[in-house]
Amino acid sequence: MARITDPVCRICRREGVKLYLKGLRCESPKCAIERRNQPPGMHLRRSKPSEYGIRLREKQKLKRFYGLLERQFRRYFEIASRSKQNTGEVLITLLERRLDNVVFRLGFAPNRAAARQLVAHGHVTVNSVPTDIPSLIMKPNDVVSVKNRKRSIDLVRLQVQQTSPNIPDFLTITNQEPPEGKMTRMPTRGDMDPHIEEIREQLIIEFCSR
Ligand code: SF4
Repeated sequence: MARITDPVCRICRREGVKLYLKGLRCESPKCAIERRNQPPGMHLRRSKPSEYGIRLREKQKLKRFYGLLERQFRRYFEIASRSKQNTGEVLITLLERRLDNVVFRLGFAPNRAAARQLVAHGHVTVNSVPTDIPSLIMKPNDVVSVKNRKRSIDLVRLQVQQTSPNIPDFLTITNQEPPEGKMTRMPTRGDMDPHIEEIREQLIIEFCSR
């Protein structure tokens, strides 16, 4: 399975915003954006970004926030652009419905990369069926549970005890032990992770539709 191997703080510095890729560290003064908010590399470019560059950065920001590769992102855009509804909203709700995102937003993992690993290593079930597919798209009333075995529960319990996640309205915790949550309805644009609310999806649509 292909994955992103770049140092994650470097990705934030490239985009010039906090993408919250590390969990607790992102809220601390150790965050690289707090300490050195400039693009990586020795030679700083100070020229004004082009229209193309602005749109490219917006697309990269959203893609990297959800930890996707270019091909995966394009696939979601294709699905969204075929929909009769607002393309930007459909794109964002598709990303929010990914299983790894749901596991993260339920507070079972400190960040999306860890949530993805939790799923890929077979620690969760969806509707009581074991799955190891982080890109699985969840539907309303789907239930995601941590497997009822010590190894899996221990991994999640520590995370649940350490943090108090801001669980969005479209998700709810249905059981504490083993941890279990449910998607109660389809997410909307307003349910998007508030850490990246300022995304301008119109620019992304313009970039991807070229
Ligand atoms: Fe690193 Fe998190 Fe700060 Fe991004 S937000 S630079 S991942 S600590």
